[in-house]
Parts: sequence; C-alpha cells; structure tokens
Amino acid sequence: MSDNEYPDEYLDENGNEYQEEKPEQERGELRPCPFCGSADIRTEPGINLNYCDKCSAEANIEHWNTRPIEDALNARIAELEAENDILKDHLREAKNILIDKNLQIDSLYEEGYKLQQRIAELEAENAALKAEPKPLAYWSDEKKQTYADNEGRSAKRSEE
Ligand SMILES: [Zn+2]
Repeated sequence: MSDNEYPDEYLDENGNEYQEEKPEQERGELRPCPFCGSADIRTEPGINLNYCDKCSAEANIEHWNTRPIEDALNARIAELEAENDILKDHLREAKNILIDKNLQIDSLYEEGYKLQQRIAELEAENAALKAEPKPLAYWSDEKKQTYADNEGRSAKRSEE
C-alpha cells in the first residue's frame, strides 16, 4: 500500500480524508421519539434519562439512539423502495412496448380494411364485366341478317 491509499476524489478541499455523513447517534444528536416522532427530547443527565416532551416516552441516555429494529425496518424499506423503482421502470418500458404494438396492430387492421375494400371493388368490376353482353347480342335481327347476307356474298364471290 502507498502512503496515500485514497485517490484525490476521496479528499476534501483541505486535503483531508472524505468522511461520509455519520448517523445521528455518532454525531451525538438525539433521534426523534420512536413512538410519536417528536424532536422535543429532553435530557436529564442526573437521572440518566432522555424523555419525549410530547408523549413522555423515556429511555436511558445510552439507549435512546439505539434502535436495531427501527434501523432494520428502515433498511428494509430502502431496499423495497429501490426494488419498486426498478419494477416501475420495467412496467413503464412494458407499457411503451404495448402501446407500440397496439399502434402496429391498428395500422395492420387499417391496411387490411383497405385491401378488403379494394377486393370488393375489383370483384364488383369483375362481375360487371362478366355480365356485360357480347357485342352480337346488341345487334338487331336486321343487322344480323345483313351480316349473314354479306358473309354469303363474300363466300359466293370467292367461288367465282
Ligand atoms: Zn414521543
């Protein structure tokens, strides 16, 4: 190990080792009342007691800030909150994907509807064309006779 085992970023502006903020008890501060949350805690060194001015809860001075159960519960809360944040992110992501997919499905439906309309148009056109009478059907009997006579004449002419 070198003399200075802390990189520069772990030193404060005075070149001293950076210290993370200590918990209240290490700073010598009294934590709020565990029962009512009040910060009005009175210390009576003569009888070695801290007590809450609001709800009268009391404990020996050295025990007031020692709260393993509360600390464990707070740690668990922090853990669950962090997990919830991650899950919320996943949920948001999943919702966005779902919205995208729904938009895609909507446009596919729209496309399909347009194609169905076009098919119906083409089928109608097709049916109309099939129903269209052959040109001969328009001819009058007189015209048919003329046509037949002309055919007969050209046949005779070719015989001559
Ligand atoms: Zn209290």
